[in-house]
Amino acid sequence: MTQENRYHRQQLLPGIGSAGQSLLANSTALIVGCGALGSVSAELLTRAGVGRIILVDRDILEWTNLQRQILYTEDDVIQNLPKAHAAKTHLTRINSTIQIDAHAVDFTSDNAESLAASADILIDGTDNFTTRFLLNDLAVKHSKPYIYAGAVGTRGMVFPILPGASQSNPPVSPHITANVTTPCLRCLFPDPPTQNTDTCDTVGVLGPAVTTIASIQTTEAIKVLTHNWSAVNCNLLEFDLWTNQSRSFSPPPPLDDCPCCALRNFELLNTPSNTYSARMCGRNAVQICASNNTTQIDFTQLHNRFAQHAAVNHNDHLLRAQLNPAEGGYDLTIFPDGRAIIHGTDHIPTAKSIYAKFIGL
Ligand SMILES: [Zn+2]
Repeated sequence: MTQENRYHRQQLLPGIGSAGQSLLANSTALIVGCGALGSVSAELLTRAGVGRIILVDRDILEWTNLQRQILYTEDDVIQNLPKAHAAKTHLTRINSTIQIDAHAVDFTSDNAESLAASADILIDGTDNFTTRFLLNDLAVKHSKPYIYAGAVGTRGMVFPILPGASQSNPPVSPHITANVTTPCLRCLFPDPPTQNTDTCDTVGVLGPAVTTIASIQTTEAIKVLTHNWSAVNCNLLEFDLWTNQSRSFSPPPPLDDCPCCALRNFELLNTPSNTYSARMCGRNAVQICASNNTTQIDFTQLHNRFAQHAAVNHNDHLLRAQLNPAEGGYDLTIFPDGRAIIHGTDHIPTAKSIYAKFIGL
């Protein structure tokens, strides 16, 4: 067997064959979030031969990620690498025949449509409902399949959202014309869980639970990309690997007054995100995005500016500064586009004043 036969075992499957393999090779998947769910999905889609994978993740690797985010290594954490770039490096070593694009940015209404423009499918690797609703807006507006998944503690859920297409709403993706229409995420969760809901940071997460959910999510993505519509599980699946419970719910019909799929009012996509700041749930950190995100930071210059106030280091992807105790001891991570994560506070005005004082774009 040579490299050309690398998909042989997958092509033996009746639902895939050489035609399915060709569909995969001509597909583009957008993976938003490269944590436990997204890194597993990315690896499985890379090995399966999806032709182009677009990775988006705003975070850098931390030691607490390695317990479940199986794509990454200790060296990635030591180098302070952004997840998107570390993932691209590992995925390219796994399969050098496909194209992988890495974006270490926040996924917002400002960039969502351009990042998703060429995607045939949207894969949920996020950890919050704001970004999920943004993905849901994108999916419905552009008739792109979106595979929702979430995992926390020892349980998780998967639900494929197939917005379908109509004459007035043709699919943008050249390869996908869903002949199934499911409810959208906002039909299922009209009142999304609030920030007080359980998160991986507050209640923990079991590695095998999240990899199981990501595997099911990726399987649904492969079915969609190979047009195996009758095989797609359009029920809401829920598993708890610790209590050995699994449930499958028939989703309700789409809501007549759903703001997204019925009224086509894409609230999340239509809300500008500039000068945006947000608490990062459960992490005692605030993210600040530069108001002018076309600015590219000169890390050497910024490094020199921080030198008297902080222990500072930088690489091509980010600059980290641990402020001296006299400056509050905050830990800053700054990205080339001016985005910063300020650790050590969940108070937005404090974070903004630190940003203004030391970065001040
Ligand atoms: Zn809906």
